[in-house]
Amino acid sequence: LSASTRPSAAILITGSELLLGLVADRNTSFLARTLDRLGVDLQRVLLVGDAEHEIVDGLRMLEGHDLIVTSGGLGPTHDDRTVAAVAAASGRSISLDQPLRDKIAAIMDAFARRRGIPSADYTDGIDKQALVPDGAHVIDPIGTAPGLIVPWAPSTVVVLPGPPSELAQMWPIVEAHPAMTVMRGGEQLERSLLRVFNVSESVVARAFDEAGGDDDGTTTTICARRSEVEILVRAPASLRDARLRLTGSMRERLVADIFSEDERPLEELILDAARARGRTSYSAGSSPTRTM
Ligand code: ATP
Ligand code: MG
Repeated sequence: LSASTRPSAAILITGSELLLGLVADRNTSFLARTLDRLGVDLQRVLLVGDAEHEIVDGLRMLEGHDLIVTSGGLGPTHDDRTVAAVAAASGRSISLDQPLRDKIAAIMDAFARRRGIPSADYTDGIDKQALVPDGAHVIDPIGTAPGLIVPWAPSTVVVLPGPPSELAQMWPIVEAHPAMTVMRGGEQLERSLLRVFNVSESVVARAFDEAGGDDDGTTTTICARRSEVEILVRAPASLRDARLRLTGSMRERLVADIFSEDERPLEELILDAARARGRTSYSAGSSPTRTM
């Protein structure tokens, strides 16, 4: 199995508040890590506003990826338009799903009772949130908005709510859903990590080139973070030898500057090293705090 047989994916984040910088996107990092764990090859992330035409355009730009995951725009209000956009892009009509409507109504009734709000205030929103594109699979709401799995050959579109905790809680249900055949070909890439300290990225880049680069099918990411540079080499199991060869060759070139080959945070590595030297207590500031 080569890297290119892994299913491809794209993420479409919706929300004008994100485009304005009022809210920082948290769903991309969750989804990116999750897809990576599943061996799905995330290739693009697109952030668009709330308007239906913006979402439709975004979907068209991402069309053809095996998996497209959308975030946000599933609420009861007029500015939540993702379902309509997915239906329009995939050429499906929309109709009211009565069993789903009953579920959402029960959730909203309980919510309205707790808050002392007349439930009639919510009726329009409930009707809107129970609209489902024909042929879509419905994922029961975590909050009030249902998720959807919508076939859009050759793609599968997964439609998730925007609130990060709702999106994260809905994901495992999506992952286990029988309609998610798209993820079955996923193969998690094996990885090696070299972490070097106090070396410029260009020195690392030269070591990478001299070691032969990614010519044998590996995927290497060089990332400077604080005062370290991380070199992450990834490859499917079938290319294990190539990954170990490249990593070994870079290790030889950078050996004096490598401080770790382990993914744990720097703080943890330092504490471990200090513990190994027999220290048991520390102070973060310059002057130690004493307690009587
Ligand atoms: P709701 O039913 O709550 O309206 P929704 O699916 O329509 O859900 P949005 O309206 O897009 O979602 O967003 C709801 C809330 O979640 C807002 O507070 C929004 O800022 C937040 N949110 C949406 N998308 C993201 C994101 N990618 N990262 C962080 N927060 C987000
Ligand atoms: Mg909303």
